[in-house]
Amino acid sequence: MGLKAYRQKRDFHRTPEPTGARPSSTNDTRLYVIQKHAASRLHYDLRLEDNGVLKSWAVPKGPSLDPKEKRLAVQVEDHPVEYGNFEGTIPEGEYGGGTVLLWDRGRWVPEGDPEIGLRQGKLKFKLEGEKLQGGWTLVRLRSRENRDEKPNWLLIKEQDETATPQSKRDILQ
Ligand code: MN
Repeated sequence: MGLKAYRQKRDFHRTPEPTGARPSSTNDTRLYVIQKHAASRLHYDLRLEDNGVLKSWAVPKGPSLDPKEKRLAVQVEDHPVEYGNFEGTIPEGEYGGGTVLLWDRGRWVPEGDPEIGLRQGKLKFKLEGEKLQGGWTLVRLRSRENRDEKPNWLLIKEQDETATPQSKRDILQ
């Protein structure tokens, strides 16, 4: 799901979002962001920079620090890297209409080759954000017959020193 899908869904005369026209600089710092998106349904957009784009997942319930809380993460189209700075209001009636807030930001470090992880449906990584840190895993669920359906993944906190039971701390609060 490349940037073409991203651009097709938007009318850039009507929405303040970046077009992704400029290629991003290539350095070894991989941007990580989560944007809290108050669209028709509130969700959290997890974005991981990879190969000049932001790989993107919509997490309806948001992340949890509890390894027992596996959160559905629906993979959506890749976004331009500049989108990682975006905060603002997408007009109502436009794709993704609603308010976007930068909820967390930092960098991410893949464990192993992320291209293989993305292809095989198991991506392990460390987050170095303000809110989220430590080990995380994205695991792709087996797809159903409908090929057009967006791939469903689970976002899972790894059991490490940054893990916390959900009953003790809800990171979304
Ligand atoms: Mn969104």
